[in-house]
Amino acid sequence: MADLQRLAITPQQIYRQQVFLTVEQQHYLGRVLRLGVGDKFIVMDGEGKWWLAKLTPDISIKTELTAILEQEISIQNELPIELTLISALPKGNNFDQVVRQSTELGVTYILPVTSSRTLLKPSLQKLKRWQKIATEAAEQSERQVVPKIRETLEYSAALSLFENQILSTNYHKYICIARNNYPLLLESLLHNQKLESIVIAIGPEGGWTNEEIERAIATGFQAVSLGKRILRGVTAPLVALSLVAAVLEIQRFPLL
Ligand code: SAM
Repeated sequence: MADLQRLAITPQQIYRQQVFLTVEQQHYLGRVLRLGVGDKFIVMDGEGKWWLAKLTPDISIKTELTAILEQEISIQNELPIELTLISALPKGNNFDQVVRQSTELGVTYILPVTSSRTLLKPSLQKLKRWQKIATEAAEQSERQVVPKIRETLEYSAALSLFENQILSTNYHKYICIARNNYPLLLESLLHNQKLESIVIAIGPEGGWTNEEIERAIATGFQAVSLGKRILRGVTAPLVALSLVAAVLEIQRFPLL
């Protein structure tokens, strides 16, 4: 099973155990991977389910391929909580790397933001590109869930999405700040035994302004450090998400 190719589809592509493959997916399976009729692969609906599937010809249109779902595969590779990354957009195409690696680390939602010191205003085309990168990374890393990437928001609009969750004690919101000796994210995670949902905010290369930090704290975010060294905007999310994933996995599979 481990060597079978995984393909993420949308749940709407399934009807009565049949998967209606897009032209692009048929091309990928047939021409790129050289799979043919009768070959098996794994279908993921991006929302938690996997199936073993078999390629068959589409009898209605002879040149096309379709797939039949043979059996559901029981799998649990997801982190046990919802994990959201708010990230100020780095320069150039660097956000591609953030999307790819955050997906590998188990993120559920990615929310790109513009802030006072962000230079980039991305096009809508970028969103499509990031969603494609997340889908491919989810296939590669054997995720069950394809992270959802939201449209880029201005920082304060992004914060207001999380304002109402201020009352839940198990809903943790962190803003990572490169200087000023804030408590370590790791310490806070280890002290919170009942983590139910986590939001992590990472700033731009120029850092957050004081006003942005104050605004986040007023919205219930806890200011935290990732250590003494100043990490690049593409490295900081990976460090923060790795810490969260490690703590959650230890809680799920205690060493003792
Ligand atoms: N130019 C900023 C400065 O000199 O303070 C550094 C910004 S850093 C390149 C980009 C973002 O990564 C920061 O806004 C912060 O969110 C995060 N970051 C980098 N290093 C960090 C650290 N050691 N602790 C917490 N957050 C960090």
